[in-house]
Amino acid sequence: MKRKFLKLFGSSFLAFFLLPFKISFSETKKIINKNLTDEQKNILFNKGTERPFSSPLLNEKRKGFYHCANCGAKLFNSNSKFDSNTGWPSFTTALPGAFKTKIDYSFGMKRTEYYCSNCGVHHGHVFDDGPDANGKRFCNNGLCLIFKPTN
Ligand SMILES: [Zn+2]
Repeated sequence: MKRKFLKLFGSSFLAFFLLPFKISFSETKKIINKNLTDEQKNILFNKGTERPFSSPLLNEKRKGFYHCANCGAKLFNSNSKFDSNTGWPSFTTALPGAFKTKIDYSFGMKRTEYYCSNCGVHHGHVFDDGPDANGKRFCNNGLCLIFKPTN
């Protein structure tokens, strides 16, 4: 009886502490697209990475725009896409204000993570070895993007 009480008390105590974090998390990132797959959710919400060379978007050469798979915000113009041979869709520049960045120290590396300004979900990392004058390479998970051709 006493043990049961302690257990109950313990779990509600924990919930009380975790609640504020849960709230702040859902405020910045929430599932807008109800049709996201588990794989997409893992990348968008847990900073996962898709297998290299797995995205059909690698071979996408049409004119158009790449949108956030969660909220639909316009992120990249197809004219900034290039073949980086890394196995992930790559862009030299994003549309103005499309992303915010954050330094990411995971896996013992210092990288710059970028995430959707509109809904807060993770998209990829930006590196300083791009082929254009600005030197940027946006390395984006294909599963985070929806391509809409112009015509
Ligand atoms: Zn978004």
